[in-house]
Amino acid sequence: MTGIIEADDVTRHYEVGRGWFGGSATLRAVAGASFSVEAGSTLAVVGESGSGKSTLARLVTMIEPPTGGRLVIDGHTVGEETGARSGQMEELRRTVQIVFQNPYGSLNPRQKIGTILEEPLVINTKLSAAQRREKALSMLQRVGLRPEHYGRYPHMFSGGQRQRIAIARALMLDPKILVLDEPVSALDVSIQAQVLNLLADLQEEFGLTYLFISHDLSVVRFVADDVLVLYLGRPVEITTSEAIFQRPLHPYSRALLSATPVADPRRKRQNIKLTGEIPSPISPPSGCAFHPRCPYARDVCIAERPPLYDVDGAQVACHGIAQGWIDLDADWGASHDEVPAG
Ligand code: ATP
Ligand code: SF4
Repeated sequence: MTGIIEADDVTRHYEVGRGWFGGSATLRAVAGASFSVEAGSTLAVVGESGSGKSTLARLVTMIEPPTGGRLVIDGHTVGEETGARSGQMEELRRTVQIVFQNPYGSLNPRQKIGTILEEPLVINTKLSAAQRREKALSMLQRVGLRPEHYGRYPHMFSGGQRQRIAIARALMLDPKILVLDEPVSALDVSIQAQVLNLLADLQEEFGLTYLFISHDLSVVRFVADDVLVLYLGRPVEITTSEAIFQRPLHPYSRALLSATPVADPRRKRQNIKLTGEIPSPISPPSGCAFHPRCPYARDVCIAERPPLYDVDGAQVACHGIAQGWIDLDADWGASHDEVPAG
């Protein structure tokens, strides 16, 4: 089955200055990503800061085009080189909407909520003022807000309420795909669960597909069907949410999971500690880009970049896993079968 999002070796490079007399260099923010997202499902993209998550989000939202590879959204190939007619592109853009981490920054403080919600309708539809108002009021109710909120300004709301407003605005044009870029990271932990529950309800009601960007694996566990672990712009593991929490394969996935809080401190945790910084995407390490930080690295890891191997139903870019020198079960105790989220 073809996914509603299909990425085939997608790249996003930037030409950046090297400083005063250094000339320019190529920064590979997304260095070659292939993945597929089924309609109605949630793919979480996880990785440290600088791994390329937000860049990937901008590509899928068509805020900027890929510099290479092929990105197909809802059956249409994205990018200038495809020659897609502008009308088609406009329609495609409406299909994908984004919700950012910071609802404070993304809502215009001088506009009332009604105006904020109706703006996409004014620009993109021929609905009358009364129809727009009706749709805005109905969406407010759908995200758990009240009709009297229609005439209020963003500063009159809490962080959680503002994120509900941002979600409502994203849904005004009946999109098929929502890109959620760290949608709950700025919220109190107690509020996070409410917003995640709302997102789950909306997904079911509208049949939405989510690309859920997060640096926090514990958030992902309850929302994602599948998880893509990104490192220096490349997927290093793509698998189901269940599998990544029960038995992560890639050493980087294991290290990320090690850093995820565990509710029961007596539970045996994984033993890979993530040391050092993520390297610069301007001059990434040779071979497996994770090798300077990997406790299992061997010569081949420095010489050859591992492709995504199929291992136990997952895709994993690791020589050690594919060639069997990492003993998965010895290093990852059975007690991790039920690693609780923090
Ligand atoms: P964070 O969580 O900190 O946002 P991220 O995983 O989302 O991290 P990106 O924001 O996608 O990562 O950045 C990936 C790399 O690309 C970083 O090294 C960043 O500095 C670089 N980058 C992103 N956008 C641009 C740009 N417009 N021009 C130049 N470099 C960029
Ligand atoms: Fe570690 Fe080598 Fe696997 Fe990279 S390929 S994660 S360096 S074992």
